[in-house]
Amino acid sequence: MAEKLLRFVTVSRHAPDKRPAAARRRDFDEISAGFDAAGAALQAARCSQCGVPYCQVHCPLHNNIPDWLKLTAEGRLEEGYAMAAATNTFPEICGRICPQDRLCEGNCVIEKGFGGVTIGAVENFLVETAFAEGWVRPIKPVVERRQSVGIVGAGPAGLAAADRLRRKGYRVTVHDRYDRVGGLLVYGIPNFKLDKAVVARRADLLRAGGIDFVLDFALGRDADLATLRERHDALLIATGVYKARALKAPGAGLAGVVPAMTYLTASNRQGLGDAVPEIASGALDADGKRVVVIGGGDTAMDCVRTAVRQGARAVTCLYRRDRANMPGSQREVAHAIEEGVVFEWLAAPEALLGDDATRAVRAIRMRLGPPGPDGRQEPQPIAGSSFELPCDLAIEALGFDPEDLPTLFGAPDLGVTGWGTLAVDPRTLATTLDGVFAAGDIVRGASLVVWAIRDGRLAADGIDAYLRARESATETPAMAEAI
Ligand code: FAD
Ligand code: SF4
Ligand code: SF4
Repeated sequence: MAEKLLRFVTVSRHAPDKRPAAARRRDFDEISAGFDAAGAALQAARCSQCGVPYCQVHCPLHNNIPDWLKLTAEGRLEEGYAMAAATNTFPEICGRICPQDRLCEGNCVIEKGFGGVTIGAVENFLVETAFAEGWVRPIKPVVERRQSVGIVGAGPAGLAAADRLRRKGYRVTVHDRYDRVGGLLVYGIPNFKLDKAVVARRADLLRAGGIDFVLDFALGRDADLATLRERHDALLIATGVYKARALKAPGAGLAGVVPAMTYLTASNRQGLGDAVPEIASGALDADGKRVVVIGGGDTAMDCVRTAVRQGARAVTCLYRRDRANMPGSQREVAHAIEEGVVFEWLAAPEALLGDDATRAVRAIRMRLGPPGPDGRQEPQPIAGSSFELPCDLAIEALGFDPEDLPTLFGAPDLGVTGWGTLAVDPRTLATTLDGVFAAGDIVRGASLVVWAIRDGRLAADGIDAYLRARESATETPAMAEAI
């Protein structure tokens, strides 16, 4: 049944129902089953069809949100899906894990006063319907091109580029050091936010569309950059950022102090059915432990919620700024609180205490002082306010930096920025090396999946323009006449 639009005055915002927190704590399943058709149509019908849609402006992919909301409200779901898929390579992933409160929904004009339209959940509904109805099909390029593109990194940036290049007819090979396709979608982000079957379904589609994957292949270990450049007409580096920022505090080397990615990767591997000795031995298992997670971003939120599900006795998040200034999505903070996580805002670690293994974190209360060079208020310690938190497992979630790629890849001429990310032309994402492009976190620093997808699509267009220019430059006059 078609719903009338502009219903935001009479229909309240309603996100898809979540499972009760007590049930969520016991498993790693997604916390919501999403909308049914009636729910999606009614919520989509709340859209006021703005002349200047701020939702679209603030979506990094500039999705045609009002148009596909209208199509959903009218029950024209196949057209709605086609429109959503035209600008977003992986809408089912963004619909689930974009921090919509900071992007499309947070900027919806009816957000103040009425509550923004549930854009992400409608996007997810459209794509899940499309999968169920068989509207999502493998890529079939109209022409086959002979040039080959090598991609290093099978995360969202590399995969978005692979999809777009294959659609243009190029031969595409994606390499990754992991044994599965998806990057942080598989080994970083937990299953309760993004079911691994959703990522595997995309990987299968990409394979069926003719994209080749070379897994367990690490650039810098199994080949250097020059070797890959010889094998392909163009290359894309989309290797993400993985060097964990370490805690600089006495006791940081004690047993029981672990980096967030080590912890999350082990948990994700266990969920995928792999044997994980560090979980079997208890080293990376929070079961029965008092866990303290240090940090306030998405990674920290994923760690606290994973620890809850592993059966931790108590889980505390220690963050040096306040709730309003946390980099993590407010939606995820709310989920964590519902699931029993305790937040110590405005508190920073001073030391990890213990003989061989950690038994407590000594922390100090902070206040927010004047803004620093990045415009954010600087936390300052309050003298004499130290306190101790009992802790058997401390997880460091302080962010990530790039590795030294020119050295790792044996490519000293590969230009980097002052932050160690790869230097690129912002229009094409071309690096300083001819025919080598870069996309995703390795260009912008630790960021979001939706930005990685946008970069991947942009880099694919840059590579396409580069290869076409090279092809026309090598055409003989006779070939040009024949064309
Ligand atoms: P990645 O996803 O990191 O993929 C890079 C790939 O390159 C990996 O598969 C890696 O194995 C491979 N690789 C690296 N080096 C080599 C090499 N030398 N040779 C071969 N392969 C190599 N974003 C959101 O939008 N929403 C969220 O909820 C969210 N949650 C997050 C939770 C966690 C725990 C983390 C860590 C990040 C989260 N993010 C989230 C951020 C998001 O995951 C990243 O911004 C995004 O995955 C970046 O994509 P990418 O393709 O650039 O890199
Ligand atoms: Fe919103 Fe992300 Fe979808 Fe854009 S891609 S509409 S930001 S959920
Ligand atoms: Fe609809 Fe909100 Fe976008 Fe306006 S800003 S078009 S109300 S979703």
